[in-house]
Amino acid sequence: MVGAQAVDIVHVTQAFRSGGRDLPVLDDVTLSVGAGEFVALIGPSGSGKSTLIRLLAGLDRPLFGAVHVGGERVSGPHPSRALVFQDPTLLPWRTVRGNVAIGPQARGLPARDARHRVDESLELVGLADFADVWPAQLSGGMAQRAALARALVNDPSVLLLDEPLGKLDALTRRSLQQELHRLWRNRGFTAVLITHDVSEALVLADRVVVLSPRPARIQEVIEVGLDHPRDQSAGAFIALREHILGLLDEFAPA
Ligand code: ADP
Ligand code: MG
Repeated sequence: MVGAQAVDIVHVTQAFRSGGRDLPVLDDVTLSVGAGEFVALIGPSGSGKSTLIRLLAGLDRPLFGAVHVGGERVSGPHPSRALVFQDPTLLPWRTVRGNVAIGPQARGLPARDARHRVDESLELVGLADFADVWPAQLSGGMAQRAALARALVNDPSVLLLDEPLGKLDALTRRSLQQELHRLWRNRGFTAVLITHDVSEALVLADRVVVLSPRPARIQEVIEVGLDHPRDQSAGAFIALREHILGLLDEFAPA
C-alpha cells in the first residue's frame, strides 16, 4: 500500500436541491486528519455526517471547497479509500469469499494474487473458516466483518466508516470495536468513523469531532489523549463522555 494518507477537508460547503429549494447540509467545514490518525465524527441525526463521508470517498463533489487525500484533490472514488456502511451490502448470490473478491477482480488482479489477498483479508477479520458461506447464513456481526474484509482487501490508505456497528447488539459491537482498533494499529490506515455512540468514539479515536445540527459545522474537536486499551470506567474517560454528551444535549430539540 502507499501507506496511510492525510485527509484535508478545506472550507467544504454542501447543499442539495430539495422541493425547489436549496437545503444547506454542510457549512464551511474545515478539518485535517493526519496520516494514520483515527478521527470520530459525532453529531445529531440528519446533520450531514454521511454527506461529509461521501465527499471524502469521492462519491459526491462539494458545492464549495475541496477534499484532499494525500495532498491530491479528491475527484472520484478510488480503491485506496474504502467505505463501510451500516448495512454490510453483501451480494447474496456470492459467497463471503466471492464478495471480498469483487474489488481485486474489478481491478484485474491475476486470479492467484486475488485469491491470496482475499484469504489474507478474511484471516484479518477472523472469517477464514467462513469463506465459502453465503451471506444469508451470517450473523449481523459476521456480515459486518465480511464488509470490513471487502474494504481491507484493497489495502486502503484511508478507511471511511459510516456507523458500521450501529445495528449490532452491544456485545458484538464491543468485540468489533476491539477488532477495529487492532486492525487500525496493525494496518496503519487513516480512519474516519461516524458514530452516534459517544463511548465508541472515545474508545477508538485520537480525536472526536462534534458536529452541529444541519447545516453541519464543527462545534468542537476533542483530543482524547488516553492510552489504549481505554478503560471506560476511568474518571478521565467518563469526564470526556459527559462533556460530549453535554454538547449533544444542547442540540436536542426542547
Ligand atoms: P446524517 O448522516 O448526519 O444523519 P445525512 O448526511 O445523511 O445526515 O443527511 C443530511 C441531510 O441532507 C438530510 O436532511 C438529508 O435528507 C439530506 N440529504 C442527504 N443526501 C441528499 C441528497 N442526495 N439529496 C437531497 N437531500 C439529501
Ligand atoms: Mg448518516
